[in-house]
Amino acid sequence: MRFAIISDIHSNLPALEAVLVKITELGVDSVLCLGDTIGYGPFPNECVDLVRKNCVLSVKGNHDSGVLGETSIDDFNQFGQDAIRWTDKNLLDDYRSYIAKAPLIAVYEGLTIVHSSPDTPGDWKYVMTMHHARESFKAFSTDICFIGHTHVPVVIGEDSTINSFHPPRREGNPISRFLINVGSVGQPRDGNPHAAFGVLDTIDWSYTLVRTEYDIKKTASAITSAGLPKALAQRLFQGV
Ligand code: ZN
Repeated sequence: MRFAIISDIHSNLPALEAVLVKITELGVDSVLCLGDTIGYGPFPNECVDLVRKNCVLSVKGNHDSGVLGETSIDDFNQFGQDAIRWTDKNLLDDYRSYIAKAPLIAVYEGLTIVHSSPDTPGDWKYVMTMHHARESFKAFSTDICFIGHTHVPVVIGEDSTINSFHPPRREGNPISRFLINVGSVGQPRDGNPHAAFGVLDTIDWSYTLVRTEYDIKKTASAITSAGLPKALAQRLFQGV
């Protein structure tokens, strides 16, 4: 089976459309979504619609939870808060209920998926240190756990190796378990503005981080036209 794993779309429709075109070209069997489909960007309804149509499963992110009123708005920075209020006003009920039904963590075909971290999924912890990674490894029993939330792609082995594109399991590789952050479709923060997502092949256990160009100007001008903070448009060009 080949899986595409997408995360942190953040209402960026041009980025999501470009990623879905690439996924179709790559010919995967199933697409999984790690949440934060909404927040920050100007196309929440269109993005939830495409996730619902294209993904076999989606988990809930902190921005999804913030718009639903399940996570306090105080937990977000000023731009995040402004965007959550805007999204709350503009999100249609049908899409709100799809987001509301998403679990915090799930296992699909032997893969764990969660937005932030598998040990305390509703606390929205950022896995930024090896300490947090070790806590995470204790909390899932599958070979791989996919995460998002930081918007920075990384592959962490259970033996504390870190690599951004390493295949998870090779012949003779003693490492068998991985925590994989697939990066962000709609607001990359690793200095590369191209949309990011992951592809896992469970036949040979190869993992690839894929980057796709999209029309950043289109998203940026829609952010400005919607009255969302200009900084949310500017950051997309730098990938920060
Ligand atoms: Zn996010």
